[in-house]
Amino acid sequence: MPPEVLEIYQVIFSKLDAKTGKTRKEIAAEYFAHFHKLLSGKRLEEVLKLLTGVGLLHEEPDPDDKRRMKFYNAMEKINTPLVGGNDNGSPPSAGVFNLDDLVSVGWTEDFGEKTCGVCGHAKPTAWQAKTNKHETIAICEDCVRIFQTKRERATS
Ligand SMILES: [Zn+2]
Repeated sequence: MPPEVLEIYQVIFSKLDAKTGKTRKEIAAEYFAHFHKLLSGKRLEEVLKLLTGVGLLHEEPDPDDKRRMKFYNAMEKINTPLVGGNDNGSPPSAGVFNLDDLVSVGWTEDFGEKTCGVCGHAKPTAWQAKTNKHETIAICEDCVRIFQTKRERATS
C-alpha cells in the first residue's frame, strides 16, 4: 500500500460514518481541496481499487441514485454498535477509541470478559491496547485483527 494512497483514505474517508458515502466526483473534489493537485480518472480508479481491495473502503450503489456507486468507509463498521443490543437487552455502549488512536496492542495473562474500548462490545479477551493518550484499554480479538491488518498495510 503506497503511503499516499493510505493518506487519501485518512483524509477523505477515515472520519466518515457508515452511512456517508462519497461519489467519484466528490472524492476527486476533496482530493483537490486537500492536496491542491488534480486526481486523474485513471489514478482515482487505481486508488479506489487498492482501498477496496484491502477492505478499507466498500463500494455500494448510492441509495439516492442507484445508477451511480458510492464509496464508504469500511472501517466505520467496527465502531457502529450492532442493531438489537447485547445479551442483557441494553444497547452496547459505543467504543470511545478509534483504531487510529491506538499505538500498540499486546497480549496479557488476564483473560476474561471485558468491554472492548474500540467497538464497545463485551467479549472474552486477554488483549489490551495502548492509546496515543497513554491509556491502557481492553480490546477484543476482532478489533486487534483489524488493527494489525491496518498496521501491516500501513507499513508495507
Ligand atoms: Zn472490539
